[in-house]
Amino acid sequence: MTPKEILKKFYGYDDFRPGQQEIISSVMQGRDSLVLMPTGGGKSLCFQIPAIAMPGFAVVVSPLIALMDDQTAALQANGIPAAAIHSGHNELENKNVMDNLFAGKIKLLYISPERLMLEIEHWPDNTPVSMFAIDEAHCISQWGHDFRPVYTELARIKQKFPGTPVMALTATADRLCRSDISACLKLHNPFVWTGSFDRPNISLQVVSNPGMQNKMRMISNLIRRHPNDSGVIYCLSRKSAEDMAARINALGFKAVCYHAGMGSFERAAAQRAFINGDVQVVCATIAFGMGIDKSNIRYVVHNNLPSNIESYYQEIGRAGRDGLPAHALMFYSMADMITLRNFAEESGRSNVSNEKLEQMLKFARAGVCRRRILLSYFSEQTDHDCGNCDICLDPPHRFDGTTLAQMALSASIRVNGKAGIYMLNDILRGSMKADIRRNGFDRIKTFGAGRDLNVSQWNHYLSQMVQLGLFEIAYDDSNHLRPTPFGMDVVYGRAKIELARYIPEKLNEGRKSKNNRDSAAQKIPDPETQLLEQLKKIRTAVSQQEGIAPYLVFSDATLLDMARKRPKTVEDMAGISGVGERKLVRFGNRFITAIRKFEGLTATMPQGSSVKHTLILHNSGIPVPEIARERGLTENTVYGHMAKLINEDLITQFGTLLSRRQYEDILRIRSEHPEDYSDFMPENLRPLIPVAMAILDYQQRHSTTKAT
Ligand code: ADP
Ligand code: ZN
Repeated sequence: MTPKEILKKFYGYDDFRPGQQEIISSVMQGRDSLVLMPTGGGKSLCFQIPAIAMPGFAVVVSPLIALMDDQTAALQANGIPAAAIHSGHNELENKNVMDNLFAGKIKLLYISPERLMLEIEHWPDNTPVSMFAIDEAHCISQWGHDFRPVYTELARIKQKFPGTPVMALTATADRLCRSDISACLKLHNPFVWTGSFDRPNISLQVVSNPGMQNKMRMISNLIRRHPNDSGVIYCLSRKSAEDMAARINALGFKAVCYHAGMGSFERAAAQRAFINGDVQVVCATIAFGMGIDKSNIRYVVHNNLPSNIESYYQEIGRAGRDGLPAHALMFYSMADMITLRNFAEESGRSNVSNEKLEQMLKFARAGVCRRRILLSYFSEQTDHDCGNCDICLDPPHRFDGTTLAQMALSASIRVNGKAGIYMLNDILRGSMKADIRRNGFDRIKTFGAGRDLNVSQWNHYLSQMVQLGLFEIAYDDSNHLRPTPFGMDVVYGRAKIELARYIPEKLNEGRKSKNNRDSAAQKIPDPETQLLEQLKKIRTAVSQQEGIAPYLVFSDATLLDMARKRPKTVEDMAGISGVGERKLVRFGNRFITAIRKFEGLTATMPQGSSVKHTLILHNSGIPVPEIARERGLTENTVYGHMAKLINEDLITQFGTLLSRRQYEDILRIRSEHPEDYSDFMPENLRPLIPVAMAILDYQQRHSTTKAT
């Protein structure tokens, strides 16, 4: 089978995405490769298809157990033999996998790096490994944001199997990290593919200093807008993840948390609830999500500033993997910055970390198209604004903020730089809090000079002043704000500054909803949406019956394609993107029936398509008795279909229908009793008569064509 045929047969896709074909053929020529594609870009197919096409088995190194189980389940659902070996399985299970592997029954083996390094020592040199795929390959680089020491041992793969192609894959685009990967793995003249890191379907929004009430309002709007889909909220700490989950549950939605402080059992349960769609939201620390291939995550929220752009991009990339619209919302505040700065100091790699944090802040404070900033960070050029970020949709209104800045700066000077951002806010508004009076700050000249503005407004403007470099934060002195030399220039009127106008959150949403198509569409669902909802319900039912996760039945993108094209026969269904042969046979009928019902048609399909249906099942290697059972037909009818298909030259291999011996017996009995041969046929041969006759015709037809 060619890679393209594999793509259609097993995955149900018609075309490769950019890069996939080139990468696949370079592996199949035995070349090493380095694949850089964003999350959701379609990396998995780049090694799965060569693994299916080439003899032997492929070894896939992956750092996370959840990811391995998820991918093997997805492969199995498509009829591809795959298995995983890791510490989450018991030794008997692992041994079984190894036995199957060496018996040639497995095409893809997922394994942890630790385990591979142990196993590989015992593998003879002629072990039929078709290729090695190193997933999340950035873990090998000390420059990366996710360094794992065990990854550096993977260099031994090339020593042990110098002739076997190795593919390194990552969604991390960090430049230093890229060159590291290929050197550390000792890749030989690799084919390098750098896919576009753009994910245009994810809309980007950043909100600074929203305050808890606004945060919760925005989050519940997101949940309400996607009641049947799911989202992830990334939090900085375990405590804040738990707190967020509690708040969301209190609002009447369903949320669970997921963090490193939970036991592995609890974590697995949370992940399962999320994957099965039992909960709408997971509130997670960064520990969550590497293994999540759930394609219908519609929104990702960052409750705090992420510590670097790579993590941010990887995390938002978990949304909208199916290519449908998705939303990334990020909150950040001055407090986040302080916390992260402290983390960076503690990490012992403060130079790298601080530099990465700076870049993240630059993105958060952006006044220009956010996607342009992201793409340029990943060294990609674009010449246009994206039209799908908050800046593009709603450019900030700026005004001359010099007077406000002078007010804030002089207040800070008058308290000798002894106030942090919240205290300064209080002083400016003339708040009579106890510690203000205790310090005598209520007697300074600027006390209450800014009472025209409320606490949120001052918060918004003070943060901008820090971001603009008027103040610096004294991390070593209670995070007090101190005027910088540039700040002093503003105080003395030597420099002017502009601030982005504060827009109350309510207003903000009002304006957004004008160009928000789906909020209006939700109220009166159009037929497509109605059908889609029904198909999703069927997916849930199928998932429960079959005991596999809903997104492994069909992805949202596939259901949407169904809702649009409304396939009413098995043949039509085979043309839906994401419906491979295995899933067509296993699940197709239930969805076709629903669509036919939706269209007001009878559940039974027309004759012609019934024969085609039989053909499709036959082509995927299903024997006649099972086809009959699956379709609710008698075996006689199915054999009748087979005869028709042979007459039309649609079946040309007969070995699986009847044996040579059976064929010859039928012909012999027929020649012995030309008039009433069916009466003389043994019971077991009788249903095969039409097939045998069709084969006879076929042979005569084809021998005469040859003769003439
Ligand atoms: P990655 O590993 O890069 O994060 P995946 O390999 O999981 O991405 O692919 C993301 C989604 O895109 C999956 O649902 C996958 O089935 C789908 N996909 C991959 N290649 C194609 C293709 N050629 N046509 C259509 N969908 C594809
Ligand atoms: Zn933009």
